[in-house]
Amino acid sequence: MTTQALTLDEIYQLAFDCLTKAGADHANADAVATTVMRAERDGSVSHGLFRIPGYVATLISGKVNGCADPKPEQVTPAFVRTHGQNGHAPLALSRSIEMLAKSALTCGVGVLSLTHSHHFAALWPETEALAERGLVGFACVSYTPMVAPAGGTQALFGTNPISFAWPRPGKTPLVFDMSTAAMAMGEVQIAARDGHSVPMGTGLDANGELTNDPREILKGVLLPFGAHKGSAISMMVELMAGPMVGEGFSFEAAEGDNGDGGPPQGGEFILAIAPQILGSDNWAEHSEKFFAKLEAMDGIRLPGQRRHKMRADTGPRNVNFQLLETLRGLC
Ligand code: NDP
Repeated sequence: MTTQALTLDEIYQLAFDCLTKAGADHANADAVATTVMRAERDGSVSHGLFRIPGYVATLISGKVNGCADPKPEQVTPAFVRTHGQNGHAPLALSRSIEMLAKSALTCGVGVLSLTHSHHFAALWPETEALAERGLVGFACVSYTPMVAPAGGTQALFGTNPISFAWPRPGKTPLVFDMSTAAMAMGEVQIAARDGHSVPMGTGLDANGELTNDPREILKGVLLPFGAHKGSAISMMVELMAGPMVGEGFSFEAAEGDNGDGGPPQGGEFILAIAPQILGSDNWAEHSEKFFAKLEAMDGIRLPGQRRHKMRADTGPRNVNFQLLETLRGLC
């Protein structure tokens, strides 16, 4: 694979220019470009520049409002609701996190429901932002049907990621962020693009047969991780990011979508919990004991550590050259 090195500023600027050229205003382009740059910075390439053609497609088709001006609303002391105004999620999220954190620090728990929004990113930016404010964060979002429920061969669930973050005062938080599919669709697309196989169990081909060829899985369906267990968690996400926040299921999002290749409209559920209110005074030291035990075990690392290690390197990132050519064509 041919790559070209870009500084983090160049990555941000390229993303920003593509988005503004496609009609996004400064605030929306800045929020998405920041999310994309941070993904490249942390080595989460499937949510970096790779996503820009999809973001741009939604702006050009008119499905997404590139000038959305979302305003979070404090519905009850613990409940914040943000109507995304049909925009991409990053601006709505960046404007809502502070209000959500205040709710949790006041009430012990805070809940954010984000609706009428298009989520095409990782979830760690929102849960990590809560953990950086001393809160436990949980987030989930549904997508468009790509995953067959355990035992089936037809897609019904989205790749439905969940993320959890635990604050570690003085340290980077513990964060996991994972698709409930055996593999996130972006990873399968990148494997197909780069000619790599994927592990058996990732998905089925168009005939419902197991295959390790990502190109065949793209014609078929993904499978949930951990068979019926991952399937149950994905089902939970459909309910929590759907009817519970006043949004649709993945299959309904697909029915209302224009098929431009970008994310359909959907909802997100975010929970923030204040351990300093719910737990004992030594909650932080106590949890550190547990992390110390974990890290003392051979072969163990904490989730989030790979990204945080990558983040410490502020140098250039290697970006797929073909992708860069596409993006330069877009702006
Ligand atoms: P991965 O399988 O790559 O990683 C899942 C989690 O496991 C990460 O937190 C990762 O931490 C951690 N992890 C990985 N390997 C280890 C290990 N050896 N020991 C301990 N922890 C480990 O993620 P996915 O491919 O499932 O998902 C990728 C991204 O796609 C997510 O950010 C998700 O939010 C996003 N997504 C977004 C969707 C949307 O609709 N917006 C839809 C589906 C997915 P680390 O990062 O440190 O490696």
